[in-house]
Amino acid sequence: MSLQTIDEFAKNLSPSVKKALTDASVASTEGRKKCLAAAYPEDGRVMRLRELANAIKSLPLSGLVERAADSLEKNGAKVLFASDAAEARETILGILEAKGAKNVLKIKSMTTEEIGLNEFLGERGIDAVETDLGELIIQLEHEKPSHIVKPAIHRTRRDIAKSFESHGIAEYDEDPQHITLAARKYLRKKYFSADAVVSGANYVLAKEGALVLATNEGNARFSMAGAKTHIALVGFEKVIPSARELAVFLNLLGRSATAQNSTVYTDFVAGPGKAKNSPEEMYVVFLDNGRSRILRSEFSDILKCIRCGACMNRCPVFRLVGGHGYRAVYPGPLGIVLSPLLAGDKIGEYADLPKACSLCGGCAEECPSKIPLPDLILKMRDLVKTKSLKVANDIGFKPWSAVASSPKVWRAAVPLNRLANLLPVDSLRIGPLGRWLKTRTLPKFRGGEFRKWFKKNG
Ligand code: SF4
Repeated sequence: MSLQTIDEFAKNLSPSVKKALTDASVASTEGRKKCLAAAYPEDGRVMRLRELANAIKSLPLSGLVERAADSLEKNGAKVLFASDAAEARETILGILEAKGAKNVLKIKSMTTEEIGLNEFLGERGIDAVETDLGELIIQLEHEKPSHIVKPAIHRTRRDIAKSFESHGIAEYDEDPQHITLAARKYLRKKYFSADAVVSGANYVLAKEGALVLATNEGNARFSMAGAKTHIALVGFEKVIPSARELAVFLNLLGRSATAQNSTVYTDFVAGPGKAKNSPEEMYVVFLDNGRSRILRSEFSDILKCIRCGACMNRCPVFRLVGGHGYRAVYPGPLGIVLSPLLAGDKIGEYADLPKACSLCGGCAEECPSKIPLPDLILKMRDLVKTKSLKVANDIGFKPWSAVASSPKVWRAAVPLNRLANLLPVDSLRIGPLGRWLKTRTLPKFRGGEFRKWFKKNG
């Protein structure tokens, strides 16, 4: 993950990656528009659906999560709660170790990305293999997703063919169909040797006690058929009341995400052993990781996100930078709001993100959950400004105030500031400090001279 600010990242991005990003994002936005217009030609129908989605996502979550947990347990699943990323990782590791699981299949999940699960398991000798093609492509290159729906959006088919060749998956062949077939062959072996499967969930149905997984490649079904244990890590905002409300989201998700009337597969997982060859055990880990805090804040609307990616497809900044420039799991307008919030005390590290927005309002026009993204981005600008100033004040003024509030310490310290004259100021003329010093000359420190003068002449 890049450590540069988003501006620096954009400057250094190669033209071919920029083109890949722009082409794919523009095509997605146009596809979404056409797909929704074809499905709902009547005036105002799409807007009504979006309003309905927003209303469902506005229902109080605490009761829904409780109900979902009860229903899931009635269906035979074990339900656990994790307050933060560390607890979620340990919980999942504990289950896998208890089962002696070494080979894990992953079904695409941004929530597991959020907690850095693959790397964590890898360091403990558990091999977690991504079964979604886009996720597999970036996993092979030790990259993070560049987009929440199309994780390898920044990669061309030539890049992928080279990568497959270097990992011994296939001979160099940039035909997309051949790439897909090679990945399929590679993954088949993994399916047969899997001990467990880890997924997220697009939705959790509180009444039915079921997880809903929307995929395009059938990898969820394949993964479930091979493994004995299924662990689902789910942000608690994914809970909706029942299958009735699900219809609203299924009508919006595929169209907003990939310009499809529906994703190719929509799997309902209502407890272990319900389908032939399905896992014998099922664990659902509800993740908080800052969500309760966000829910109580002025940013609670961001939890209505259904992870369709439409806002980033439309965003003029994302189209030129891609997801890696945002230095966090969630990019684009969604990430500008969510990433600093999830960072908690480290919010200052993302202070540049809210500025990476022209406030064109395109994201709000796309969002199927009608999240007022530009308003939230403006609020985030205020928040990071306050937090960054606080950090600067803490660093700059706390030591100063400790010295200045004691006359004795102050008197002893003032002559010492002459030591600052020994600083190699010329070699510090780099970066922002260099630009600041270009038009300024630092005077010599003359600590204590006034006191000496005053003693003599005063
Ligand atoms: S914020 Fe809205 S448009 Fe963006 S990913 Fe979430 S639901 Fe989709």
